Amino acid sequence: MKFARFIAAGEIRTGVVSGEVIREIEGDMFTAWDYTGNVFHCNDVSFVAPLVPRHVIGIGANYVAAREQLPAQLPDIPVFFFKPSSSVIGPEADIVIPNGIDEVKFESELAVVIGKEAKQVSEENVWAYIFGYTVANDVTAPQFFHPDGHWTVGKSFDTFTPLGPVIETELEPRSVSVKARVNGEEKQNSPTELMIISISKMISYLSSVMTLQPGDVILTGSPVGAELVGPGTVIECEVDGIGTLRNTFVAAKAPAVSS
Ligand code: MG
Repeated sequence: MKFARFIAAGEIRTGVVSGEVIREIEGDMFTAWDYTGNVFHCNDVSFVAPLVPRHVIGIGANYVAAREQLPAQLPDIPVFFFKPSSSVIGPEADIVIPNGIDEVKFESELAVVIGKEAKQVSEENVWAYIFGYTVANDVTAPQFFHPDGHWTVGKSFDTFTPLGPVIETELEPRSVSVKARVNGEEKQNSPTELMIISISKMISYLSSVMTLQPGDVILTGSPVGAELVGPGTVIECEVDGIGTLRNTFVAAKAPAVSS
């Protein structure tokens, strides 16, 4: 099933996409919901991020270029970081390059949406806690990484976490590819089997540290090929079976001068 949030007749609504139509639902997507009976055509609505995440957690440097580069030994502590939910935008919304810099990096990623409270979950059992999957763009301004190694500022600007277009609940995440196109030219295209830390390992590990809750979103890392891009660039992030998340990079407006 493909869940989406969208604006129609001036309201943000939630629905299930099938083909070219969206059937509106009411209730909690994660627990109990019903169809309202309202049906919209996809062309008549504007999609927004498919959920308002509770937490957004990313993992750093999680892909190799080829199978033979997969390390025999995994790191003891994976490199995780948080992104604020205020950085989330939906499909077609502009990604704003902060004042003072000319370029930012796109990172196309498969994003996991947690659907059930998860605490101390074993690797074999993580699948029961996953609600579905969406596409993310983990936009990054490495110019704002702290020299001591902290990434928070460079990952946190408003508009730096596009999500969408839908949450697909029936995906097999171990057999899809994560892709990115810049102005139509392919820059990233890797199967998820090139992940260093697998989805089951990363969720099991996280659940041993913090209790994961419905609405938590985990960005699983970006394939080789992410680049710095400037204003006017159109970025399309795509995962087989979910769809394409398209956004345009724009320059920030100059800050207002106070008198
Ligand atoms: Mg990333």
